[in-house]
Amino acid sequence: MSLQAGYAMCDITPAIGCPMDGYGARDHGSTGLEDRLQARVLVLESDGGAVCFVCTDLLGVDEETADQVRQRGSEGTELSVEQIMVCASHTHFGPCYRRRAYLPPSLADLVSEEYRLNMVNAIAGAIEEAWGALQPARVGWNTTRAHGLTFNRRPVDDEGNTQMRLVLEAPAAVAASRAGAELADAWPKGGYGGPRLSAPIPEMENLHAGVTDNEAPLLRVDTAEGEPLAALVTFACHAVVGRGDGYDISADYPGQARWAFEHIVGGRMLFAAGCAGDQVPTWRREDSRERVGRALGAQAAKAWYEVPELVDALPIGTISRTVEIPVPEGYVTAEQARQMLREAGDEDSAEARQARSLLEKAEEVGGRTSIPRPIWAARVGDVGFVGLPGEVLVEIGLQIKQRSPFPITHVCSLTNAYVGYLCTDRAIREGGYEPGRGTIMFNLNGPGTEAALVETGLAMLRELHGGGENNC
Ligand SMILES: [Zn+2]
Repeated sequence: MSLQAGYAMCDITPAIGCPMDGYGARDHGSTGLEDRLQARVLVLESDGGAVCFVCTDLLGVDEETADQVRQRGSEGTELSVEQIMVCASHTHFGPCYRRRAYLPPSLADLVSEEYRLNMVNAIAGAIEEAWGALQPARVGWNTTRAHGLTFNRRPVDDEGNTQMRLVLEAPAAVAASRAGAELADAWPKGGYGGPRLSAPIPEMENLHAGVTDNEAPLLRVDTAEGEPLAALVTFACHAVVGRGDGYDISADYPGQARWAFEHIVGGRMLFAAGCAGDQVPTWRREDSRERVGRALGAQAAKAWYEVPELVDALPIGTISRTVEIPVPEGYVTAEQARQMLREAGDEDSAEARQARSLLEKAEEVGGRTSIPRPIWAARVGDVGFVGLPGEVLVEIGLQIKQRSPFPITHVCSLTNAYVGYLCTDRAIREGGYEPGRGTIMFNLNGPGTEAALVETGLAMLRELHGGGENNC
């Protein structure tokens, strides 16, 4: 049977007042609504192979929630669990729906399990609806670059130490963005890595900028009649543009990207976060959600119109596995974390929040030297997809793209689990926020994470490229 496609969405906007996810410094729940949050579902099916993309306006999707969505989605359709992926835009203006240890107790008490279960139900329902809406379709693909929207927040000084720059004034951000993109351009397809630090940047106190990945690969889906149905776009930038005091619910710039795309092209756009662990917006606050998001949406629209060809039959395959992510040597034990918690005193203090966070992680580690995490890959024609389970530093994604057997590869982060930052070995040596042994993050993912993700992801892509359908 030739290609069929189905699209559906559901609303996952939380109640005003809910605790929000993404910033540890927030001390009260949300106070307003800028735009509604959604989960968008695209199902493709061709010759018995199928894939289902679920893109949510959330900071992340924890493994249990992702498993429930995949399981329930599979029960209501002929899709297997392996064929369904669930990812997050990483908006920092959505709900916190799990009792995360970093929350002060007053906010943790507001976390709603009812919201979470309703969300799982709604998304499972949308998967069923998309499956039920399958219709003959044509698919094409393309890739483009959206310049100047992001920079690498981990510049390095002359001594080789990371000097975090979470936010930069425009001249420095623009210079860092340009320098980072030039670095990425010098990573050859088929090669192994490339230059990772720029020459000193005068606008940025002579720090060396890190790599920025401007690529916005796009999958285009038309109905058989030639009407736009849906596009899936992956882009690597933290959804932290923000507005006002940061307490209004919002999809952040990805919502604006979808708005622009849909006003230009029609159809529906799904947004997946690329490897944005160290990639942040060049522009912040005021009208920057529009500035960043609509520029991306317009660039994606250009790529849509420039898709060279559409096909109505193609190989589709998926693989779902686990990858062993090494725990850093000498990771804190549960007993040590309990001791810290006893010493921290006031349960709202920064020390107590850090100790609770550590205890939660130490209990998860339970003395293991590595932890199995989900990793997912798919093929749609000549396009490869890898779904990684946390916030991935850009160089990991670039290495997968470089050596992928597919001409276009989407490397989607925050897929099927949320395990914190996934860093390169070099970033771990250089320090800074993401490898974070000294911060509330206290990263669980140690040296060797990079090789595990790159090599496992590539092995799965090769298998899909060579073998055609998997898990049909
Ligand atoms: Zn983040």
